[in-house]
Amino acid sequence: MSPLYIKVHTSDNVAIVVNADGLREGTECPDGPTLRERIPQSHKVALRSFEKGDPIIRYGQVIGAAAVAIAAGSWVREEMVSLPEAPPLDELKLSTAVPAPLPPLTGYTFEGFRNTDGSVGTKNILGITTTVQCVAPTVDYAVRRIRAEILPRYPAVDDVVAITHSYGCGVAIDAPGAAVPIRTLRNISLHPNFAGSPLVVSLGCEKLQPARLFPEGLNGHALPVLEADPYIIRMQDERGFGEMIAAIMRAAEKRLEQLSKRQRQTCPASDLIVGAQCGGSDAFSGVTCNPAVGYAADLLVQAGATFLFSEVTEVRDAVHLLTPRAINEQVGRDLIREMKWYDEYLERGFADRSANPTPGNKRGGLSNVVEKALGSVAKAGSSALMSVATHGERVTSKGLVFAATPASDFICGTQQLASMNMHLFTTGEGTPYGLSLVPVIKISSRTALAERWPDLIDLDAGRIGSGEATIEEVGWDLFRLILDVASGRKKTWSDYWGLSNALAPFNPGPVT
Ligand code: CA
Repeated sequence: MSPLYIKVHTSDNVAIVVNADGLREGTECPDGPTLRERIPQSHKVALRSFEKGDPIIRYGQVIGAAAVAIAAGSWVREEMVSLPEAPPLDELKLSTAVPAPLPPLTGYTFEGFRNTDGSVGTKNILGITTTVQCVAPTVDYAVRRIRAEILPRYPAVDDVVAITHSYGCGVAIDAPGAAVPIRTLRNISLHPNFAGSPLVVSLGCEKLQPARLFPEGLNGHALPVLEADPYIIRMQDERGFGEMIAAIMRAAEKRLEQLSKRQRQTCPASDLIVGAQCGGSDAFSGVTCNPAVGYAADLLVQAGATFLFSEVTEVRDAVHLLTPRAINEQVGRDLIREMKWYDEYLERGFADRSANPTPGNKRGGLSNVVEKALGSVAKAGSSALMSVATHGERVTSKGLVFAATPASDFICGTQQLASMNMHLFTTGEGTPYGLSLVPVIKISSRTALAERWPDLIDLDAGRIGSGEATIEEVGWDLFRLILDVASGRKKTWSDYWGLSNALAPFNPGPVT
């Protein structure tokens, strides 16, 4: 393979090495410098010489200043790039460059489970919600028994999933921060893939009583009689472990009978709510898998669907590129509100922005969080930002939406479950991540990863880096794959292997 590197923007003064084995010292790059040293794949080459303090530009944006003088053809390592200040939140342009609406895309459908509330599921699952961690092992035991003894009689139901978590007691439940995990658990419990009606297992004495988790009622039962709902099981009311399990299994059987009557029907693509995040990013993520997801995001928006991007700490340093795209000034201010809230949250914990990226990100060629963020927001495509949801809130608007979450893969995925019925996960370093509630499509930034993990990666976007495919082609492949997976026609690798990371609702509140 001849020497190949990727320069994203005409003004970039660094580029990313594409060749799988890197490039040797003395390599003469076409239209570029001669390399002064070996540079590994996905790491940056200096296209010109830098004096100390000169701006280093990638994606057409300043990712930092040269910490030392750098000669053209050198390997631009992490320690040679000093971290710039984050864009000041008080000086951002609001709604000044709103993209024109993209032409509508009609005629694309999927086979989904339509619920009475209008929401649409992509799987048919019995959900068992817990109000407190104390009951989790008992519910897990019951789930094992239900899977083995009852579920095989209901082949139309895909799975039984317990919504377990570490909250419900021992948290300052009235603290403002506690609203976040409670809101998240409520919205996950009412997930369209559960037909919006979970079983609930409560201990009895916990702070997070079922009526507190579902203040608007459940299964058509309003608050005063909620405690009498036959699908709420209180363990402290039962005689011994055997009766607890029997009560859960009786309720599960009744619910499975109802769920087994659900049938897939043709739904417009506009019923999709697709959440995207990245995990284990490398320097390719921002030029291959994330732009391909961004292209698919535009197609989904054109088809009238909802597309969520998240991860506050990976949007923060690119926020100046997003507030001008807000559909109106209020949406721009909502985005700033989420950035400010997180700035203060990190400050309280004495964390700074250099806590992100990870060692793996850096090994993959990402120097700092600015470079990571610029690559990360490529997932948001090019349409107008229609709304902003706070942590764990259920998104109701169509189009491109920012749903605030931490960047942590499991917490972000859990928070997005409050809204999404389909998940996209881009990765450079690779992680066998999965969620049992919704299908997770994993997209690799490099072909080498897709070849090393052919039984975990669902789509290879590395073909973009090597010039074998365009962003548009992979974006279309992904859009079609989303429709196939949402319809149950194709299975993701994480569903094939039954991989599911633990639910981890974000809890910014104090624990007592
Ligand atoms: Ca992530």
